[in-house]
Amino acid sequence: MKVRPQLLSLKAYAPGKSSDEVKREYGLEKIVKLASNENPYGTSQLVSDAISSIDNFAIYPDGAAATLRKEVAEYTGVKEDQLIFSSGLDEMIQIISRALLDENSNTVMASGTFPQYRHNAVVQNAEIREVPLKDGRHNLPAMAEKIDDNTQVVWICNPNNPTGTYVDDKELEQFLRAVPSNVLVVMDEAYYEYVTADDYPETIPLLKKYDNLMVLRTFSKAFGLAAFRIGYGIGAASFIQQLEVVRLPFNTSVLAQQAALAALKDLDFVEKSVSANALELQKYYEFCGRHNIEFYPSQGNFIFVSFPGKESMGVFQYLLERGFTVRPFPNGVRITVGTEEENRELFELIGKMVLVAH
Ligand SMILES: *Cc1c(COP(=O)(O)O)cnc(C)c1O
Repeated sequence: MKVRPQLLSLKAYAPGKSSDEVKREYGLEKIVKLASNENPYGTSQLVSDAISSIDNFAIYPDGAAATLRKEVAEYTGVKEDQLIFSSGLDEMIQIISRALLDENSNTVMASGTFPQYRHNAVVQNAEIREVPLKDGRHNLPAMAEKIDDNTQVVWICNPNNPTGTYVDDKELEQFLRAVPSNVLVVMDEAYYEYVTADDYPETIPLLKKYDNLMVLRTFSKAFGLAAFRIGYGIGAASFIQQLEVVRLPFNTSVLAQQAALAALKDLDFVEKSVSANALELQKYYEFCGRHNIEFYPSQGNFIFVSFPGKESMGVFQYLLERGFTVRPFPNGVRITVGTEEENRELFELIGKMVLVAH
């Protein structure tokens, strides 16, 4: 067999060791998973109730997700035909890439952002134009300069994973005015619910002005439904109808749809998760300040930290052996903000590590 040559440069997603493997290897009793930005408070109780009352598994799901569509339209304040659902945003990125990218086109993104934009562009054999982050933030003017007649999609991760930084409302509007109307601008707002900054752009009202804007949101993060795989995109109705063609007929399961519906009935759970996250982030800032650890202030439920003079793989390994999994990058580690107790234990470990280093 011969797969298309561009696939040979890619690796399948590596999920990392399972918690059970890590426990066995290092003789640990518990593992605190702070590597994938899942909700440390779990999921609303309404979700388990809804799931356990599903009584027929022999029937296909509603491919159009009609009930969920109605509720999400209400929740976001858009029309039902402006929505498309997917098996997490990972699939949405694939849908968009399949629909718009080929070997004759290019796509613009930051380097140092969510890796799936690049991965799917390689699969499509499109040209990738990456613009380095500036102080951990998207450099929108430089990204605008990369756009030419063959540009099909620009990806903006806002807040950005892994740095937690954000593009503000003025920067975004200026950028949108500069982008030709036939170039799709994707705003990946996976962490939308967590944002606290006043000048974070509200993109849904901008959809009225910009037909080439698409907003992505997910139930995986603040809603705590990562296990179910469900997210959605919002855009111009005519464009969304075109994207529907490349979506699998039953891409969101009955369980995922029911879970999302139940989660939307408990916004109190989301609010509590979000305010606890904001409080805990403050503790991270104070802790980092006290120990001379560099960090980016974050609008998500994670924080990117770097330890001057320390290899991030060493930090990763030190924490792993002590029961905490974080995500290493060449220039630092991304840590999901955990519960109060988890963060306290982590601070203690990092504090000791930094002391030993001096
Ligand atoms: C987690 C994440 C996603 C993917 O989330 P799904 O679980 O596939 O919905 C997409 N974009 C960013 C920036 C993320 O952090």
